[in-house]
Amino acid sequence: MNLVVMKFGGTSVEDPAAIGRTAAIVAGRVAQGKSPVVVVSAMAKVTDQLLRAAGAASVGDRTGALAISSRLRARHRDTAIALVKNTSDIAALLDFIDQKFDSLDEVLRGLAAILELTPRISDLIVSYGERVSSRIVAQAFRELGMEGVHVDARDIIITDSQFQKAIPQDDLIEKRAQEKLLPLAAQGKVPVMGGFIASNEAGITTTLGRGGSDFTGALIGGALTAEAIEIWTDVDGIMTADPRVCPDALRVKVISFEEAAELAYFGAKVLHPATILPAVKKNIPVLVLNSRNASNEGTRIISLAPHCKSPFKSISVKKKLSIIDVVASRMLMTHGYLSQIFAIFDKHQCPVDMVSTSEVSVSLTVDSTDKLPAIAADLGKLADVKYEGKKALVCMVGEDIRGQHGIAAQVFNAVRHVNVRMISQGASEINMSFMIEEDDAEEAVRSLHAAFFKEPDPAIFDVEARKQLAVDSAQ
Ligand code: ADP
Ligand code: ASP
Ligand code: MG
Repeated sequence: MNLVVMKFGGTSVEDPAAIGRTAAIVAGRVAQGKSPVVVVSAMAKVTDQLLRAAGAASVGDRTGALAISSRLRARHRDTAIALVKNTSDIAALLDFIDQKFDSLDEVLRGLAAILELTPRISDLIVSYGERVSSRIVAQAFRELGMEGVHVDARDIIITDSQFQKAIPQDDLIEKRAQEKLLPLAAQGKVPVMGGFIASNEAGITTTLGRGGSDFTGALIGGALTAEAIEIWTDVDGIMTADPRVCPDALRVKVISFEEAAELAYFGAKVLHPATILPAVKKNIPVLVLNSRNASNEGTRIISLAPHCKSPFKSISVKKKLSIIDVVASRMLMTHGYLSQIFAIFDKHQCPVDMVSTSEVSVSLTVDSTDKLPAIAADLGKLADVKYEGKKALVCMVGEDIRGQHGIAAQVFNAVRHVNVRMISQGASEINMSFMIEEDDAEEAVRSLHAAFFKEPDPAIFDVEARKQLAVDSAQ
């Protein structure tokens, strides 16, 4: 079997037209003799709205929460009605949608009464987005002539119980994916499951963290040793920068697993940071493709990317970070000091992104979290502590910076007008990153992009698209 995992993000299932395009893309793979396993996100913005409903209910705003749920119910019903014409199929689908929203309303009413939103309840509430979208997409596939079969992802993606960021249990997932999905694919059926949602071994709903549908796609690809993992989204592939920030960003045609993982970790939203790992384990190529422009070849992520004449492949930005400065007036770098500092971050389960030390101070960057005051209070027992939020980390990634001289000077020349706080060249030697004020981030990315992608290597970047853009705007 030529198994291909195809993951479609929120914008690729946002309305009947998008679901129609998605169905046509999957049908195209079937026509090529492939056996697709399809993973879908919730319809665009639904997860945010479910979280808003949860937030409203948790402060006692029962009416507000139920109003959000009612709008979501109507959107899903309308989408189903537009896609499915067969009378008994649409009746069954609407019944499914109503049952799910009835039970969501019950959870919201309960939450509005107890006024305590736990991570576990939050995961249950957001799970409705993918549970319903996947059922609609499976039915739409049937309507369009494919044998779409809805599979509840929570029966396959088994995790630990860290709600909101659960860790997958690879062995169980492999066993269940093979048991449940392979027979369907072997019969020419197209399994459709929700991304992002999972369950622990006791069957309680968990999630893989925001943007986690990419991770589901990769986990299924790894579990089934698929020949490719396709991530279908709303841009032509991994670009040299976020095209929303840098409209002249270019598509990167090919990039290595290591580079893509670094970019994803440092904020390139196009891929969830954990997506690459299952692919690396089995050396499965990952393709990032545009469901609105399906004929574009996208980005191919593979283990060894060809040499690139430009030092960098892409620039990412991670926002909502804080810098913590720990300053000790007495002898600081005595041994054991750093481990005491890290033990505190460990105790609060707070990962550290970047560290820099001097004789008397240690600066660390972390995601801005509401744990910061408690962390600062603990650190305050060792030394003086200050922390500041609204920081951004700009990260330039490329394997070809290895061994090149003078790159750092070019980077800092490009952002000389910006106040740079911390600098690091990652241990992997394929990234160069620095910390700035969040408000300066977009300007910094555009300046760096102008400096480093003036003459992009045509073997690696889609230079033709830029030429075409110039022709179009001249006309
Ligand atoms: P999906 O819903 O399909 O998962 P996301 O919104 O999570 O899509 O990710 C796609 C978005 O990622 C793009 O619309 C783009 O704005 C953003 N993005 C950030 N950095 C990059 C990059 N380097 N290349 C492409 N897209 C990027
Ligand atoms: N729907 C989830 C989110 O918005 C997961 C995903 O789309 O990848 O975060
Ligand atoms: Mg995403």
